[in-house]
Amino acid sequence: MRHDDDFDYTKQAADHLRETGERLGLCIGSGHAHMFVAAALGYGSRKAMQDDPNGPWFGSQWLSREAENVSKIEEAIKRMNKAPVREDQAPMVAEIVRAGLTPACRDCGEHSSQSWPLGYVEAGDNADWVCPRCSSDDAQYGHCCCCGDDVLYLLDELDDQGLCSEHRGEFDLSPEEEEDWDSYIENIQKDG
Ligand SMILES: [Zn+2]
Ligand SMILES: [Zn+2]
Repeated sequence: MRHDDDFDYTKQAADHLRETGERLGLCIGSGHAHMFVAAALGYGSRKAMQDDPNGPWFGSQWLSREAENVSKIEEAIKRMNKAPVREDQAPMVAEIVRAGLTPACRDCGEHSSQSWPLGYVEAGDNADWVCPRCSSDDAQYGHCCCCGDDVLYLLDELDDQGLCSEHRGEFDLSPEEEEDWDSYIENIQKDG
């Protein structure tokens, strides 16, 4: 799902952590949730993250790639008064935060750290995102054989050879190549 540039994915992640926690029977308060998101991104507190001039841009769709700090989450749990989770649940918290930092699936609205951006995009570019379950629908999504399996396309965007607009015509021969090819075939037939 696309958002304005001032959309805050860290806030989305904190909300997602609270909702997912609730489903798991964990009551994670807003302050703790924000602390976990900051910790996953390598900070001791949300304030420290906000104050860092080189800190993350909250409007980036790609924040989950930077949210790998399980040890910071463990530290945060240790420091917390009445921590809502156990220290050994830090990897689970990290995974939920990564999912929450990822844009919602354009089809089902699900958050998954395994979602794909749609189309050929560089890290940092804004895109529509698709979760693993929806992207496995091969009546709707496919891959260009030149771009490879790492790039997800709508089937509508691929031509009947399965090529994206960038690679369309990749396997068509140039007039010179076609001439070479014709004379090659001619020679073979002569020899035969
Ligand atoms: Zn989905
Ligand atoms: Zn391609």
